[in-house]
Amino acid sequence: MTTSIHPEVTKFLSTQPLQLFIGGQWTDAATGATLETCDPGNGKVLAKVAAGDPADIDRAVTAAQEAFRHSGWAAMPANDRAVILHRLADLVDQHREILAQIESLDVGKPLSNPLNFDIPNVAQTLRWYADLSVHTRRREPIAVSGFDARQLRVPYGVCAFIFPWNFPLLLVGWNLSPALAAGNTVVVKPAEDTPLSTLYFASLAEQAGVPKGVINVVTGYGETAGAALAKHPGIKRMSFTGSPEVGRFIGESCGRNLVPVKLELGGKGAAVVFEDVDVDATAKALAAAVTLNAGQVCCTATRWVVQRKVYDQFVSKAADAMSSLKIGYAFDEQTQLGPVVSEKQRQRVLGYLERGEKEGASFLLRGGQASVPGHEGGFYVKPALLTGSAENVCARDEIFGPVAYVLPFNDEGEAVELVNRSTYGLANSVWSQNLERAHRVAEALVAGNSWINAHNLFAHGVPYAGCNLSGCGGGVLGPETLLDYLRPQSVVRPLG
Ligand code: NAD
Repeated sequence: MTTSIHPEVTKFLSTQPLQLFIGGQWTDAATGATLETCDPGNGKVLAKVAAGDPADIDRAVTAAQEAFRHSGWAAMPANDRAVILHRLADLVDQHREILAQIESLDVGKPLSNPLNFDIPNVAQTLRWYADLSVHTRRREPIAVSGFDARQLRVPYGVCAFIFPWNFPLLLVGWNLSPALAAGNTVVVKPAEDTPLSTLYFASLAEQAGVPKGVINVVTGYGETAGAALAKHPGIKRMSFTGSPEVGRFIGESCGRNLVPVKLELGGKGAAVVFEDVDVDATAKALAAAVTLNAGQVCCTATRWVVQRKVYDQFVSKAADAMSSLKIGYAFDEQTQLGPVVSEKQRQRVLGYLERGEKEGASFLLRGGQASVPGHEGGFYVKPALLTGSAENVCARDEIFGPVAYVLPFNDEGEAVELVNRSTYGLANSVWSQNLERAHRVAEALVAGNSWINAHNLFAHGVPYAGCNLSGCGGGVLGPETLLDYLRPQSVVRPLG
């Protein structure tokens, strides 16, 4: 069965080119330039979208500054802002099917994923931060002798956001919700490959009554629009999600302007599997983790470190689970594994498999290019499983495709050492029935997140961040993320 396209999605895609959203107005790029975004499932162009440049970024930052000063958003009681954000969350829920279809078409995700996870999660995140902001004190007395002192928490002003293509709207939810709930105004630059859901979300924000200029969206290329946003002197905070390579540029630009920056970067997550697990269930769970979103998940488990006694059994079960996944078009209800986002990304994955083999890795499941009948232009890749040296390029680098690298270990110390060799530090998991050992190992792994007997866990209230090459400057999803978007200010008067 194939799901048919919702008439509202057809209507949305027929308005071309899709415009920038600046100061509450839909507008073409100043140069009139456009870019094309395509459906990774068949390679066909989905929409023409305005390609903003530095002049558009400047317009958007100016509009966001103006809205910060004069729209009432920043000064509004947190309750009133929360009412508007709840209204936006309700609209996201009401438009779940439309948003999920747009996301699925633009990223290639099997439709059930955004329908059941990404889109409902956006609404949940909006509500979670709206509610938290209502209960966050903005003015607290500080008990010091000789002074009447208090601590204020005030919004920064214009906050800038640059996002990657793997979870376009989910990341908008995770990052914009705390900034908006705190009373900031925002300028967003979505990835050039996947700008569509963010534009539709902006139209819902308009309907929800978010004042003009509070949310601005400038679609465009990273080297032009993205770079101009990161270096704009009018922004007061920057949050970037993407690769470490680009993260460095962003950090440099913000450093020059002394703008605080949050970098959420790549990963090379590991799973440590001890011999006391249910091998079949664990192999299936990790096969599902590494193929989720066609493996384009920053925190997923791509290195499987498996205790020697169950290694052969684990590898055979995992290879079976990976090879039996149904590869297909996003709207086909049977599809379990969709395409990667672009031909460039497919070549990156295939290139890594070739380099890994040249460096001596062997294939337990060969993977490679896949073709889906009726969708021959799509960017499909079969899952691959490799083994070999822990120093192999496929064991070290983030590949961002449905590719796992498996290594055996003998004892706990060796497993921890293998995992901690990584230059990344986003997320790992430990699988064991011995919870004391699982907790001990989880704490010894160097990363922002350690999960036990599961991988890819995201709960509102649990901070999610990386260390080392995976990022710095705070994270998302925690209560402290709201405070990241509130500037501390003390007010002090001497007594007597
Ligand atoms: P990318 O770094 O190539 O691009 C991310 C964004 O940066 C895009 O919007 C792009 O247009 C923009 N950009 C590119 N060059 C720029 C420049 N010079 N100046 C300013 N902006 C620029 O990343 P990608 O390929 O889109 O996404 C994949 C990466 O994102 C992976 O490394 C993945 O691990 C990471 N990621 C991390 C997290 C996390 O939470 N840590 C979440 C999702 C993705």
